[in-house]
Amino acid sequence: MGKTIHCRIKARLENVEELKTNHPDYSFSLKLKCTGCGEVSDKWHDIIESEKFPGKTGRSENNYIAKCKMCGRENSLDIVPGSNASYTNEDSEKLKSIVAFECRGIEPVEFRPLEGWIVKVDGSSKIYNEVDLSEKEWVEYDENIQESVGVYDFDYKLS
Ligand SMILES: [Zn+2]
Repeated sequence: MGKTIHCRIKARLENVEELKTNHPDYSFSLKLKCTGCGEVSDKWHDIIESEKFPGKTGRSENNYIAKCKMCGRENSLDIVPGSNASYTNEDSEKLKSIVAFECRGIEPVEFRPLEGWIVKVDGSSKIYNEVDLSEKEWVEYDENIQESVGVYDFDYKLS
């Protein structure tokens, strides 16, 4: 068994009932650290629950599997099935886990939110399906409620 690491997010929501990823196709963009030698790769990795790759032995499939370039150890990581959660207006400005990773020899140390978020507007049937949080905030004017809808001060914690 590996170690479980949660990605907790925090944001200030304005007229947003629910913020979530387009699970299971959302791409978690992560920087990974090998716990064997401590190496953190410069590269960002895309971890997607609906994408699995076979290991060398072919015994299992993982959302991420690779040999560490420094120590040569084969490390793997998976999104824990069913761990995906929405961030709702009740969670605004609080940290909440939106996904858990099962980590074997490797751990996520940085996360960037990028594209693929879904926002459901509070008090409206409106849903925005292609929300980009690359800038750690997002704002739109919703004609239905005649107010702005936004996600601000996006932050996260991996632990
Ligand atoms: Zn290593």
